[in-house]
Amino acid sequence: MQEQLFIVPGIIFLFIAIYWIIPNYWARNHCKTVIRTGNQKSPYIALTFDDGPNPRYTPKLLDILKEHGVKASFFVVGKNAERYPHILHRIHSEGHVVGCHSYSHSHAWLLSPINTFRDLKRVCRVLEDQLNNHPAWYRPPWGMFNLFTLPAAKKMGLKTAYWSIEAQDWEAKTTPQHIYNTVISRAKPGSIVVLHDSGGAPGAPAKTLEALPLIINTLKQKGYKFVTLEKMKGELQC
Ligand SMILES: [Zn+2]
Repeated sequence: MQEQLFIVPGIIFLFIAIYWIIPNYWARNHCKTVIRTGNQKSPYIALTFDDGPNPRYTPKLLDILKEHGVKASFFVVGKNAERYPHILHRIHSEGHVVGCHSYSHSHAWLLSPINTFRDLKRVCRVLEDQLNNHPAWYRPPWGMFNLFTLPAAKKMGLKTAYWSIEAQDWEAKTTPQHIYNTVISRAKPGSIVVLHDSGGAPGAPAKTLEALPLIINTLKQKGYKFVTLEKMKGELQC
C-alpha cells in the first residue's frame, strides 16, 4: 500500500518529464535542428513577428517595414490566416517569410501526440492553399515543445525557429521604451528577435509598432542589416 503511494506520483512525474520538461528544455537550448541565432560574425538581425495576421496591426507593421526597406519573418496562426487571407497575401507578396505558428495557437503541453501532428498539418494546408507554397518555417506557440513537436515539424518538412531576444511585448505593463531598450541592449550579430503583431494584452501590438521604427533606425546606425530567417540560415552554412 505504502509502495503504491510512491509509484503513482513517480509515474506521473516520469510522464511529465518525458512528454514535456525534457523535450522542451532540449529543443530550446541544445537541439541543433532548432535555429536560435544566426552566424555571429555576420551583421545580420532577423525580426520575427508572431500571432498575426491581425487587421488592426499587421498592415501598419507592413507599412513600417516597407518604409524602412526591411524584410522580416512572420509566424502566422492558421485560423487568423484563414480569416484575413488578403493580409497573408500582402505579407507574402512584399517579400517576407511566412512561417507557421500552429493552427489554433494551442500550447504544446496541452496537445496529445496525434493533435500535435494534426494541428501542424492543418496550418500547413491553410498556407499551401492560400499561397500555393509549402511553408518552410515553424515556431510553436510560446516557444513550447512537447515530445512530438519536433518530429511533427520534421514530418511536415519544416525548419524550426526559436529566438535569442524577446522583449515581453505581449504584456499589459510593457512600454515602447522597454521594448526598445530590451532589443537594443541585447542585439548582437545573428540575433533573432521575437515580437508580436497580434495577441497578448489588449492593445499590446500598438506598443510594438511604436517601438519598431526606433529599433530599426538605431540598429541600422550600429551597422546591422535586417534579413529573413531564410537568409540568416543560409549565412549559418557559409
Ligand atoms: Zn504566439
